[in-house]
Amino acid sequence: MKFATKAIHAGIEPDPSTGAIMTPIYQTSTYVQESPGKHKGYEYARSSNPTRTALQTALAALENGNHGLCYASGLAATDAVLKLFKPGDEIIAPSDIYGGTYRMMKRIFEPLGLNFRFIDIEETDRIDELISGNTKLVWLETPTNPLLKIIDIEHITRICKQRNVLTCVDNTFASPYLQNPLDVGADIVMHSVTKYLGGHSDTVMGALIVNNDDLAARLKFIQNATGAVPGPQDCFLVLRGLKTLHIRMQRHCENAQQVAAWLAAHTKVGSVYYPGLPDHPGHELAAKQMRGFGGVVSFELKDDRYERAVRTMENLQIFALGESLGGVESLCTHPASMSHAGMPREERLKIGLKDTLIRLSVGIEDIEDLIADLDQAIGTD
Ligand code: PLP
Repeated sequence: MKFATKAIHAGIEPDPSTGAIMTPIYQTSTYVQESPGKHKGYEYARSSNPTRTALQTALAALENGNHGLCYASGLAATDAVLKLFKPGDEIIAPSDIYGGTYRMMKRIFEPLGLNFRFIDIEETDRIDELISGNTKLVWLETPTNPLLKIIDIEHITRICKQRNVLTCVDNTFASPYLQNPLDVGADIVMHSVTKYLGGHSDTVMGALIVNNDDLAARLKFIQNATGAVPGPQDCFLVLRGLKTLHIRMQRHCENAQQVAAWLAAHTKVGSVYYPGLPDHPGHELAAKQMRGFGGVVSFELKDDRYERAVRTMENLQIFALGESLGGVESLCTHPASMSHAGMPREERLKIGLKDTLIRLSVGIEDIEDLIADLDQAIGTD
């Protein structure tokens, strides 16, 4: 099945009791058993719920995986991955990752005995030398949040496989519409479903997708044993959101490309970070690895005073100032105080994330209105 057909049909069966075409919201905590242990496949809703099952199946299909698991948030999904490891195990991750992932690694799992090695994106080229006898996982995020750097997934997974090291790719920024890491050898795909998969800024959720039955069983055990599962109402909302993922992503990409080109040509704008721009350092790799360049564009003004960046963000009318990305409506985020507040300032500066960086999640509104909004917000002074 092609992507658009899967987005609408994968995981969805007419409801067995009524024939309802839309998966019902099974708002129940438990299921009646005929006799102890004799049931219809569902025992208790932390372990499984039919609305969640439909969504997990749909997400697995979109990522070309065999098993999907949903969690109460993207970070809960990341937490489940990190719980696969034990004290002394080493995990390598680029330092340019979502601030909350970095915070969880440093402040929750490092004190519990896992060792993290944060590397520069450029160092991922020589991952072979960096892997040690204790390395158990390489964590990747590409494009990265918020600087939109691109990492070669295939190169890393090939080496990790030879060295018996797992790879997990946070595929939130690309969505399965633009890239499928499992197809090029990744072991785990992680999503903040909150973003493009949900698509409507109304749900917080995470997901993991894998192909390996043993890994799926271990993750399923953690999901049930620690209990960070999403409720059925949220699963229903995401199932509905998925049906338009392909057309939303097409428009996100088209609009973001135009916004990036417009910003790059603006006399008041300094650096523009968007892999769809030909002079972006990851452009060629992104063109090879992805089926489009995504909907997030970051930029700095030439005037590098903090107040100037703040004024621009305050001036925006259509781009709402707030955390998150991936919804149909355009959002503007200030990474230093929002998405990456969990990362110490010196670490942020080390990876090139300035206090004046502005990140746009370009929505699917009319492009002329979006550009007019940026134009008036950046102004002429
Ligand atoms: N990964 C990325 C790339 C993100 O941008 C985010 C949230 O912004 C997360 C993970 C965490 O997801 P959640 O907010 O759903 O917990």
